[in-house]
Amino acid sequence: MGSYGNTDFDLFRTTEEHELLRESVRGLAEAKIAPLAAAVDEEARFPQEALDALVAADLHAIHVPEEYGGAGADALATVIVIEEVARACASSSLIPAVNKLGSLPLILSGSEELKRRYLPPLAKGDVLFSYCLSEPDAGSDAAGMKTRAVRDGDHYVLNGVKRWITNAGHSEYYTVMAVTDPDKRSKGISAFVVEKSDEGVSFGAPEKKLGVKGSPTREVYLDNVRIPADRMIGEEGTGFAIAMRTLDHTRITIAAQALGIAQGALDYAKGYVAERKQFGRPIGDFQGVQFMLADMAMKLEAARQLTYAAAARSERGDGDLTFFGAAAKCYASDAAMEITTDAVQLLGGYGYTRDYPVERMMRDAKITQIYEGTNQVQRIVMARNLP
Ligand SMILES: Cc1cc2nc3c(=O)[nH]c(=O)nc-3n(C[C@H](O)[C@H](O)[C@H](O)COP(=O)(O)OP(=O)(O)OC[C@H]3O[C@@H](n4cnc5c(N)ncnc54)[C@H](O)[C@@H]3O)c2cc1C
Repeated sequence: MGSYGNTDFDLFRTTEEHELLRESVRGLAEAKIAPLAAAVDEEARFPQEALDALVAADLHAIHVPEEYGGAGADALATVIVIEEVARACASSSLIPAVNKLGSLPLILSGSEELKRRYLPPLAKGDVLFSYCLSEPDAGSDAAGMKTRAVRDGDHYVLNGVKRWITNAGHSEYYTVMAVTDPDKRSKGISAFVVEKSDEGVSFGAPEKKLGVKGSPTREVYLDNVRIPADRMIGEEGTGFAIAMRTLDHTRITIAAQALGIAQGALDYAKGYVAERKQFGRPIGDFQGVQFMLADMAMKLEAARQLTYAAAARSERGDGDLTFFGAAAKCYASDAAMEITTDAVQLLGGYGYTRDYPVERMMRDAKITQIYEGTNQVQRIVMARNLP
């Protein structure tokens, strides 16, 4: 697996290794994840079987560097894993995606000691890692957060509520952004590792969502949570910058999720129009249908090229990563929304029922326009970082 640690891939092409990885993830996703996707959605339950299959194949947190026991996958390999899992089941694709989101602050800015403590269990598949930025009153304006971390000797004491936390309750570790100096707004925020077993950590009821129903989203309550000061990631006051730098990289994984969902919908629609007959012939014979499929495939491929170009920038740490990460997430998620909506259209009345997978894909696609910053926020980020 170490061979995926390749920084030389071309901006617009995958390597043979990446394509072999895609083939193997697709095989695993079709055999072990796709058959459960409808039930996971219908019952709004955690896709444990998907987690088990991903851990067994070492694909659950493929981004963790080799020196911490991980596979050391590059950003594009991680995109391909998420894309192929999302093609089968969007909820399951949040396992590798959020493991990266939760642990990247540590990988980018944590002390060696913290990395040695928290990354190997993630790489082994013993734990999941969540990311706690959003709050009930601080979403797009994340710097307006209220969660406090107050120094007390060799410890910090955390109090507050984090909202919409993916995998909350299932994750053992949480990167939590909290205010250490309320006078400094974004420069008064610090990042910490909080453990599920820390006294004072508890969780709200699972949110009842439109899509990604198999991915648990809950509030995280921090009630006088006393943690050692060395659990701080980076320096005091750098937490917001770390959180934003993390999103530059991980928005590309949301773009990957959008690509996978859209590819799943396009593949299904392609098969359907070849079978479904009206006016005495397959509906795929009609030019009006063919043009829709052509547009869907065109938008998907454009989104894929932009996402892979962004992944190359993430891997190299290029100066224009912030623009590319936001652009890839925004473009791919808008494309996924259009493509999945068109897939429902191509299935007619059948597409509108839960007997077919495309309505689930349309519901799942919607979240990719919202989280890790709404697409309005992505446009703000792009406008401030024009290439
Ligand atoms: C299923 C799910 C999983 C999530 N997982 C996580 C997670 O693991 N960790 C985490 O920290 N967060 C997570 N989130 C939170 C997510 O990132 C936020 O919901 C998102 O950033 C938007 O914040 P908000 O919901 O408060 O909306 P608001 O910020 O209230 O936005 C409402 C509307 O106003 C628009 N708006 C706001 N400000 C502006 C502006 N300046 N210009 C133009 N339009 C604007 C927004 O685009 C949006 O359309 C998750 C959310 C969901 C639904």
